[in-house]
Amino acid sequence: MDVMITGGAGFIGTNLVRRLAENEAIDSIRIFDDFSTGFRTDYASSKVSVIEGDLRDSAAVRAAVKGADAIVHLGALPSVPRSIKDPLSTNGVNVLGTLHVLEAAREFGVEQVISASSSSVYGANPTLPKHEDLATLPLSPYAVSKLATEAYTNAYASSFGLRTIAFRFFNVFGPLQRADHAYAAVIPRFVAAIKEGRPLIVYGDGSQTRDFTSVHSVTHAIEKSLIERIEHSTPVNLAFGSRTSLNELIRMLEEIHGAPISVERTDQRVGDVPHSQASSELINRLVPDVFRPTLRDALAEVYDWYGADQ
Ligand code: NAD
Repeated sequence: MDVMITGGAGFIGTNLVRRLAENEAIDSIRIFDDFSTGFRTDYASSKVSVIEGDLRDSAAVRAAVKGADAIVHLGALPSVPRSIKDPLSTNGVNVLGTLHVLEAAREFGVEQVISASSSSVYGANPTLPKHEDLATLPLSPYAVSKLATEAYTNAYASSFGLRTIAFRFFNVFGPLQRADHAYAAVIPRFVAAIKEGRPLIVYGDGSQTRDFTSVHSVTHAIEKSLIERIEHSTPVNLAFGSRTSLNELIRMLEEIHGAPISVERTDQRVGDVPHSQASSELINRLVPDVFRPTLRDALAEVYDWYGADQ
């Protein structure tokens, strides 16, 4: 199987490439990325090739897709605050970019497209856990762009017969996640601050909860979906129903660090949802037996990785 991974140089993408390179059923992996935030990694595996290009450039996407059997579409500008600052760029990459990928997939008869959506699509809907049938009420341009990503992906299944699955990721974390940019996610920001002896910055009172998901669970579910050709006509949560507040997370990190951690609290950010927890019924049925480390173990892995392998 020849797999193309858009955003394959990013955090989830690089973890996925590492996993798929070990799988004998995968013959080749082409990474498509503009390296705006992605890493340049030297892969020992001859299976892996890199195509540098922009999702907004349909000709570049077409050229990259030709000949692929499956596409994992991860490439995006994945940040709520960034989308509030610059909605047009988010729309260009996340929405138009997705359409370019799907159009090329249709043109070249790609068998399967797996897309990355986000729990942010539930937005202002307060119901917990977040069941896939709930109304989506996006609070940010980013969330709208992810709603469009999943809806276009599944519309290409019903309109053109593509085999698709769109996963809603919930706060994914793990090794290789960047802490060094303005829109970094909370776990890498916290771990970097601890390792560098800075206080942790918490937006709001820290009672906000998240369904933190190990990147190894996400890449395992994607791998299984590729190998077993799993498809679904509606979006699927890719998280397992845990609910951890930032204050609990800080306590766990304090235990791992083995010393007190100082915290600075500041105003809540616009567009942030207060609570997030997935219903995992559908993922457990469609993609059973996904690898799930405990939060403590997965956090300890990030803590050990930070500064050691960057
Ligand atoms: P990331 O920023 O590490 O990866 C995104 C990749 O896309 C980067 O390598 C970047 O260089 C590339 N990219 C950006 N703009 C591009 C463009 N115009 N053309 C080509 N490549 C471009 O982010 P990630 O955390 O690995 O997220 C991957 C996907 O998962 C994204 O679609 C994101 O929306 C989704 N997602 C992530 C999370 C999370 O917690 N990490 C949660 C929900 C959804």
